[in-house]
Parts: sequence; C-alpha cells; structure tokens
Amino acid sequence: MSVHDLRGRALSDLRISVTDRCNLRCTYCMPRDSFGPDHAFLPRSGLLTFEEIRDVVAAVGGLGLKKIRLTGGEPLVRRDLDRLTRMLRVALPEADIALTTNGILLATYAMTLAEAGLNRVTVSLDALDAEVYAAMADVDHGPEAALEGIEAALDAGLRVKVNCVVRAGVNERELLPLLRNFGPRGITVRFIEYMDVGATNDWSMTSVLPGSDVRALVEEAHGPLEAIAPLISSDVARTWRTKEGWVFGCIDSVTAPFCGDCSRARLSADGSLYTCLFSNQGHPLLPLLRGGASSDEVRQALVSIWSGRKDAYSEQRSATGERSGRVEMSYIGG
Ligand code: SAM
Ligand code: SF4
Ligand code: SF4
Repeated sequence: MSVHDLRGRALSDLRISVTDRCNLRCTYCMPRDSFGPDHAFLPRSGLLTFEEIRDVVAAVGGLGLKKIRLTGGEPLVRRDLDRLTRMLRVALPEADIALTTNGILLATYAMTLAEAGLNRVTVSLDALDAEVYAAMADVDHGPEAALEGIEAALDAGLRVKVNCVVRAGVNERELLPLLRNFGPRGITVRFIEYMDVGATNDWSMTSVLPGSDVRALVEEAHGPLEAIAPLISSDVARTWRTKEGWVFGCIDSVTAPFCGDCSRARLSADGSLYTCLFSNQGHPLLPLLRGGASSDEVRQALVSIWSGRKDAYSEQRSATGERSGRVEMSYIGG
C-alpha cells in the first residue's frame, strides 16, 4: 500500500530527529545567541523512546517507506543509537538507513552502527580550513574530528557523502578544497544553498550563494562539467562530473526548489510528524503512541495526515516572508 498527498507525491522517505541537542552551534542552524545555556531543550521524558520510533517506522513501512534518515540535532549525542538502528533494520529489512551527522563522534560509533545495519552516512563539513570551520560551526576547533569520523565510516564499509552549507562571503573559498580533497576518493560533496529554515538564523537572500555560482566556480577551475542524470526523481541533489571524474552535487533549494518531487516526512524528537521542513505546525503522534493505539491506528493517522498534504514552501518562498513561529531544523530533523 502506498499513500499520496494532494499533489500526487508518495510518502517514501522518513527523517527522524532523535534529539534536538547538538555539540556544535552552526551559525546557520543553532546560533549561539538563541541556543545558549538557557535554551529549553526537550526534556528526556519528552523524547520518543526507541520503541516508539520503531513503531512509527513500522507503521510508515506499511505505506511504502523506502528511506530512513537518522538526524537531529546531532544524532550521535543520543546514547545507544546503534540499538535503534538495529531495531529499525529488523522492522524494515529492505529499507535504506542513513545517518546525517556532523561527524564529531563518528569515529567512536561508525563500526557499531555499520554492524547494526546502517547503510550510509552523510557528514556535514563546511570547510577544511580550521578558521573557516570554527567560524561556521561557532566552535574553537577545526575539522579534525569530523575528518577522522569520515575515515572511520569508510573503514566500517559505510557509503559516505559530505554536505557543505554554503554561506556567501564566509566559506566560498573552501568549496574547491573540499571538492579536491573528496572528489578523487569517490566521495560526493554536496553544496547546499543556505536556507531560511527556522526563525533564529540571520538568513537573507544576500547570504545565499546560488548553486549556479558554485558550478561556475568549479568550471572556472576545472573546465566544463558533465551533468549526471538523476537516478530517482526525489533526489534533492543534482550532480555533476568534472573532467577529472570527480562527482559533486548541488542542493539548490532556494534558487531551484524541488517541492514537486518531495516525498519526505519528518518526525521530531518529541513525536510530531511534519510534512514540510518549513512547517510551523506538526501533527503530534505521542498521544496515539502512549495511548495504546494499535499499529493500524497509527498507520491510519499517518495516511490521513499525508493525504491532506499540499506543502510546497520553497516554490512559494518570498525574500521577506514571515518566519516567527517556524520550527527549527535541529528540532524537526534536517
Ligand atoms: N547535526 C547533523 C549534521 O549537521 O549533519 C544533522 C542535523 S543538521 C540540521 C542536517 C543538515 O542540515 C546538515 O547537513 C546541515 O548542514 C543542514 N542545515 C542546517 N541548517 C541549514 C540551513 N539553514 N540551510 C541549509 N542547510 C542547513
Ligand atoms: Fe548541529 Fe547539525 Fe545544526 Fe550544525 S547543522 S548546529 S551540527 S544540528
Ligand atoms: Fe519538501 Fe517543504 Fe522542502 Fe518543498 S519546502 S522540498 S515541500 S520540505
């Protein structure tokens, strides 16, 4: 059984935020002045348990779910993520299970996660230069731990991609070094346009470096690019190959929105389902999950939520749009 929304989009991809906490303070995601020591993170008792997450996954599984992504916040700050991974692998043996992480703790957990059934990892890394990295993540260290994490993931047999959020004027000069470092090793770097997600970052259109400029930068240095045809229409990144054979991607969510193929639902750490990254309201599942609902009842609730969906925020975005009340990416799951 599959379920389609009002624009005919199937639900095939679930992103699960396992925590709203993080060990970095990326300026574009969890700016320190909004996510300081006084910030009210979710209480532990408010987080979905692993069993509850598994129950949601099992219910969505019956609706044609193909991809699960564990994210956050920083998913690796939640203890025993390998146990959750194993539970999800048992619940959906055929699913593609991926993790998005800043990589800081990945060297410690890569092997156990791979053994538990994780297929892939995307490591967010905005710069190789220590100063630029520290400025993007608002920390006092460079990318060493994340780089070690990438090596550990490769050693564990996981497929690895790198995500780089591009902020105009901040990390532009890091794009070529990232491509030159990972391209020859067959690791795809995906350059993401800075988005106006949440209500706390200082996004403005002037801080976005369009993906077309990223490609121009690469072409200037490496010659004409070959566009690679997408394997699946719901892939968020479009990919190119340089003449050296290095593959990189661009996620042009601001300048070339891809809502038309968006098959993603997001489950917040406290159990609300969001049908768009830019929603300001989720659908709380906790009352069902903690109220003794059967798997069928949870599935019916999901069908009813998804069938009523018509989100297409990125197609409708305006540069001066109202942002107050919008949920943060660290909470909803990036
Ligand atoms: N902490 C993990 C990490 O950084 O990979 C997972 C959660 S993070 C919210 C997921 C992804 O969202 C990361 O690749 C991050 O770079 C991206 N992201 C966060 N804020 C963003 C923004 N304002 N615009 C574009 N991408 C953003
Ligand atoms: Fe943390 Fe990831 Fe957000 Fe950076 S992008 S602050 S690592 S959740
Ligand atoms: Fe999907 Fe919403 Fe992003 Fe459009 S704006 S691609 S509907 S999450």
